[in-house]
Amino acid sequence: MVVGDIATGTELLVIGAGPGGYVAAIRAAQNGIDTTLVEKDAYGGTCLNYGCIPSKALITGANLAHEAGNAEEMGIHADPVVDMSQLRDWKSGVVDQLTGGVEKLCKANGVNLVEGTARFKDENAVRIAHGGEGQGSETVEFEHCIIATGSRVIQIPGFDFGDEPVWSSRDALEADTVPERLVVVGGGYIGMELSTTFAKLGADVTVVEMLDDILPGYESDVARVVRKRAEDLGIDMHFGEGASGWRDEDDGIMVTTETEDGEENEYRADKVLVAVGRSPVTDTMDIESAGLEADDRGFLSVDECRRTDVEHIYAVGDVVEDTPMLAHVASKEGIVAAEHVAGEPVAFDSQAVPAAVFTDPEIGTVGMTEADAEEAGFSPVVGQMPFRASGRALTTNHADGFVRVVADEESGFVLGAQIVGPEASELIAELAFAIEMGATLEDVASTIHTHPTLAEAVMEAAENALGQAIHTLNR
Ligand SMILES: Cc1cc2nc3c(=O)[nH]c(=O)nc-3n(C[C@H](O)[C@H](O)[C@H](O)COP(=O)(O)OP(=O)(O)OC[C@H]3O[C@@H](n4cnc5c(N)ncnc54)[C@H](O)[C@@H]3O)c2cc1C
Repeated sequence: MVVGDIATGTELLVIGAGPGGYVAAIRAAQNGIDTTLVEKDAYGGTCLNYGCIPSKALITGANLAHEAGNAEEMGIHADPVVDMSQLRDWKSGVVDQLTGGVEKLCKANGVNLVEGTARFKDENAVRIAHGGEGQGSETVEFEHCIIATGSRVIQIPGFDFGDEPVWSSRDALEADTVPERLVVVGGGYIGMELSTTFAKLGADVTVVEMLDDILPGYESDVARVVRKRAEDLGIDMHFGEGASGWRDEDDGIMVTTETEDGEENEYRADKVLVAVGRSPVTDTMDIESAGLEADDRGFLSVDECRRTDVEHIYAVGDVVEDTPMLAHVASKEGIVAAEHVAGEPVAFDSQAVPAAVFTDPEIGTVGMTEADAEEAGFSPVVGQMPFRASGRALTTNHADGFVRVVADEESGFVLGAQIVGPEASELIAELAFAIEMGATLEDVASTIHTHPTLAEAVMEAAENALGQAIHTLNR
């Protein structure tokens, strides 16, 4: 059907149905705002379709196979065979269930859903081009708009994602076979999560990283635990090398790298995964027509309510400058923006933003490190509990890593935490909650924790900071 260019109106237009946009749309509709959500690809955005969810599904499969095949010391003898295409189908089933749920929730909350690509006509209207050729377009006029168009993978010179051996993270998550040899360019969190996953699935993995360590942004003792485990899994890591290109060989491909001094190295592979980061999607929407300007990397600047320089246009999620590109950040920003449109006195508070890395072991962080606290003028006190002293960690056979709690010595307020170890992504929630509630070390230490659990390590780290730890020596 060919649809002509008709104009409709909406109180709030949300562009992009990722965790920033769909959450904003639902919250706005819950507040009685006439809301339209436009999406050009798939409900749930990068997170549900090509990011958080499929990667965690694959990690679960890889962990299960690896654990089962490596439990000899417990008397378990197994040699699991992974059917990659079946694992991929299972993962896709999980994704479909969740994306279908997002669509249903939007409809049930009264959000008008429009499929198509939005471009600004001016600061109060977009033109939405529908689907394929001949599908027509429509103009939607809005009082308020939330830009939630997310991010895309960064492509580097010499590595074209259109070439069959060159993988983006999205290609890696769609793989139906495990490459024998995989070179991963980039030792950030996506690169390391996927390196670990493919190593556990049987690939021979090499990581090349321009910096001198994996996981930039995390403290060196935290990254060290993950690096050591990656080495034990057989992942070969090379630092201070930038990937410069690749060429076909009789047997697979050859990936070339270069150091700062111009020294060249070569690594044989069957696939090369490029995971060097993501850039915001703000260049395909004619934002200038709405009076908006992105910075030189494409990010939009916003105030504490997520308003851009054009006051009735908000931005949330991966397009926003100076906040981490994480799904829960996008969702929180979406809620703040939607509630602000509804007239509520809200602001985005970055004090207790947790982050997790689903490597082996996992990392969970929130708030300040000890160095951050010092820089902010606190006199920090730090408590630590190694997982090797945790009964529950030993019974799961995963006892690498530690819980560290950072607090203000004078007031006892918890300022931050760094966890590297089993279930760190779950455990960090307790400390995010502690910061959010203004809890002190005493509050965390005196809360009765179930035994035997990994969460006891959180309590014990707080006790350690107070000089009262029972199961580890006090500092
Ligand atoms: C492999 C991988 C693993 C990840 N793992 C995690 C994790 O474990 N935890 C975590 O917190 N984060 C993770 N992330 C990051 C997370 O996916 C993003 O931070 C999150 O999706 C950002 O949400 P968003 O709503 O800003 O954008 P997106 O999720 O990117 O959604 C934006 C949506 O906007 C649509 N869109 C764009 N332009 C237009 C337009 N002009 N018109 C209409 N629609 C448009 C897009 O199609 C897309 O659906 C991961 C990312 C990747 C790639």
